[in-house]
Amino acid sequence: MKTYDAIVIGSGISGGWAAMELTRLGLETLVLEAGGPVDPATDYVEHVQPWQLPFRGRGDRDKLAREQPTQQACYACDEWSGKFFVNDLENPYTTPPDKPFYWIRGRQVGGRSITWGRQVYRWSDLDFEANARDGLAIDWPIRQREIAPWYDHVERFVGVSGQAEGLSQLPDGRFLPPMDMRCAERHVREKLLAAFGGERVLTIGRCAILTRNHLGRTACHYCGPCERGCITRSYFSSINATLPVARATGRLTLRPHSVVAGLLYDPKRRRASGVQVIDANTLQSLEFHARVVFVCASALESTRILLNTRSAEFPGGLGSSSGELGHNLMDHSMGHGAVGTIPGYEDHVSYGNRPNGIYLVRFRNVKEKHPDFLRGYAFQGGAWRSGWDRGQSMKGFGAAFKQSLIAERGPWRFSLYGFGEMLPRHENQVELDPEVKDRWGIPALRISCAYGPNEQAQWKDMIATATEMLDAAGATDIQPTNQDVKPGLVIHEMGTARMGRDPATSVLNSWNQVWDAPNVFVTDGACMASSANQNPSITYMALTARAAHRAVDLMKRGEL
Ligand SMILES: Cc1cc2nc3c(=O)[nH]c(=O)nc-3n(C[C@H](O)[C@H](O)[C@H](O)COP(=O)(O)OP(=O)(O)OC[C@H]3O[C@@H](n4cnc5c(N)ncnc54)[C@H](O)[C@@H]3O)c2cc1C
Ligand code: SF4
Repeated sequence: MKTYDAIVIGSGISGGWAAMELTRLGLETLVLEAGGPVDPATDYVEHVQPWQLPFRGRGDRDKLAREQPTQQACYACDEWSGKFFVNDLENPYTTPPDKPFYWIRGRQVGGRSITWGRQVYRWSDLDFEANARDGLAIDWPIRQREIAPWYDHVERFVGVSGQAEGLSQLPDGRFLPPMDMRCAERHVREKLLAAFGGERVLTIGRCAILTRNHLGRTACHYCGPCERGCITRSYFSSINATLPVARATGRLTLRPHSVVAGLLYDPKRRRASGVQVIDANTLQSLEFHARVVFVCASALESTRILLNTRSAEFPGGLGSSSGELGHNLMDHSMGHGAVGTIPGYEDHVSYGNRPNGIYLVRFRNVKEKHPDFLRGYAFQGGAWRSGWDRGQSMKGFGAAFKQSLIAERGPWRFSLYGFGEMLPRHENQVELDPEVKDRWGIPALRISCAYGPNEQAQWKDMIATATEMLDAAGATDIQPTNQDVKPGLVIHEMGTARMGRDPATSVLNSWNQVWDAPNVFVTDGACMASSANQNPSITYMALTARAAHRAVDLMKRGEL
């Protein structure tokens, strides 16, 4: 059987980057993807209209409730994009009854890079030093200066539109021109800068969407529903960006329908020799071999693969020697903030469907310590002219009703929706369920995770500050947002195989190598030692690119 230079498990955001970097650096690379292929020509449906769908965009509710009871909790799992989310019956997991966790997943070539929200924010040393400063969990083994060149590298390829703001807590990146802010957003930005001495900065969202043509991909035409795919490849996904480059090297072999059950561990060499795969269609068990393995199946799936790699030496799974494998699960928190009406600007409307919102940068625990909680939060949201949606609560019918909705638009509304940092806590964890298995016979995960007092204290503050800021911006009709969003639903799960400086307290070293088997690299969200409050995927991309270059360096030096 052929031995590859590298195997990459998963073809989502992290796996796509690993595949591109390793093939560009000369490695014969096999990508094993559990799901099936995606053909943009037929599977992307961003321009399909509701009236072209059997359920007019409302979805087959019986089928959703039966096959995707968990996935349908995600806004993007609808009649268009439901096919990009897993079948919950085939992919079970368990939770304690009092600790629901919504595990939102995509199982196809491209993973969740097809459906993600594309918001990308760098971390600063406020984030990398947080654990050390607070004496919590363990210190990150890297700092901003180590990752900054890799953020540069990633952003240059991805194409990130955004506005430089010169803030220490949210470093600027290599930006394409920013998308325009709407008039009510510019209004709120100016009011907040004036009211809070420049400390509360509202900027346009930084997003992985092209505002001009870039590396063979076309600028966005503002059609709006990106989670359905993008035939002009204007937003970053594995299918739109990384995998085509990997394929063009001639060194990529992509094998869909390949469910990795575990790694093959060679105790004599203390290395992984390859991976064990179940063919998703035939259920045949197969083995593939390589010199290095990149585990990029998404944070919890990667952890499941490691937990399921049991040997005499590591009965708790590969990477379990520290006792931290599966622990310290984090997501972000969301659902708290406020909505209000911005008076004025009634003669202004917005055109097109800007696939992006605003971002109000973290301001808590940046300069002054907050008495009630650690870390911080940011707000996402934006302004919109209430219009068609008013029709749902109005009486009317037919052409005249439609005309009245067009002629009489509602006022400008504005929302601030908090995204808070979640602290790493040992008791938030995943393990293999002793009984439940997935459709391919692989042990399912048992997930036990809950928010704690620090997150709850942040929520209170988010509602207070969002209300205070809308008030300062002159908003009327301000209503607090206080939703009970459960862990998992922010879809930023991370932390279950954390990086660290010490093999006694961490699963991975500072280059994402498993301490127990250094030719295994875990570069997705599993590696995170804390969560910050920024959307995390750009950090996974930067760490993946960095680790891929490290792997090739070590191979060249004969150390792997
Ligand atoms: C609706 C939505 C909005 C989001 N918005 C944002 C955002 O704005 N910003 C942000 O930073 N993040 C966002 N995210 C999160 C983001 O999508 C994830 O952080 C990111 O995709 C993680 O990348 P990954 O490579 O680790 O995993 P994924 O992209 O999920 O890819 C994992 C891949 O591994 C495959 N796989 C899994 N198990 C196996 C196995 N056993 N064998 C082989 N293959 C396997 C899967 O099929 C999949 O293709 C959002 C997610 C969703 C769903
Ligand atoms: S809004 Fe832009 S990025 Fe999104 S699908 Fe349409 S063209 Fe693509």
